[in-house]
Amino acid sequence: MAQFLLVTDLDNTLVGDDAALHELNQQLTQHRQAHETRLVYSTGRSRQSYEQLQRQKALLEPDALVTAVGTEVYFPGQETPDPHWSAQLQTHWDRAFVQSIAQQFPELIPQPESEQRPFKVSFFLAAEMAPQVLPALAATLQAQQLPVKLVYSGGKDLDVLPQAGDKGQAMQFVRQTLGIAATQTLACGDSGNDIALFSAGEERGLIVGNAQPELRQWHTTNPSDRHHLAQAHYAAGILEGLYHFQFLS
Ligand SMILES: [Mg+2]
Repeated sequence: MAQFLLVTDLDNTLVGDDAALHELNQQLTQHRQAHETRLVYSTGRSRQSYEQLQRQKALLEPDALVTAVGTEVYFPGQETPDPHWSAQLQTHWDRAFVQSIAQQFPELIPQPESEQRPFKVSFFLAAEMAPQVLPALAATLQAQQLPVKLVYSGGKDLDVLPQAGDKGQAMQFVRQTLGIAATQTLACGDSGNDIALFSAGEERGLIVGNAQPELRQWHTTNPSDRHHLAQAHYAAGILEGLYHFQFLS
């Protein structure tokens, strides 16, 4: 067995089945001790909201934490976001301008202040409105020469992010910083904001069995040997993926 890097989403991927989480944590703890395997969390939550979940579920301490849909990276000991990552996102980003454009779309309901971050503007958008609103919003932003990324998740959450700042690009930044090959990396997720994890590069991808329709649909239209759709749900699905790709045996 060799060192690997596990990058996992939290809500409804790592977290959702306490017994399976406990089993996965035991396996990971052993592997980290024996092989210096690395663990990274990648979540849409803010850091504050992550810390609540971390206490509730007694999550293992990660080797890096990616919050706010890839727009903030924290390595151990860092209380503020990693400045190297933030500097990469700063280019071409104009938060106030994104907000002013979004005001032209009454279907976009701003999320609470706690979810608004320096490099993330977040809205609620009803699933039935999304097919009309998303292309219109994208076209309007593009016409203004503002290179941003629209990430729609769970049939309700819309995040507008800098072009350079999604979960996939944050994963690659962290992976390179930790010095682990893409082929020794497994990324895990359940919803639309995790698609970036699976389309970033050569990393292996695990879609938990309880994944949202938007991610299942993406998987169907983008088939690849690098990706596995698990039968098992939540952390049990992650374990299934670790065996499937032979990171565990
Ligand atoms: Mg999730």
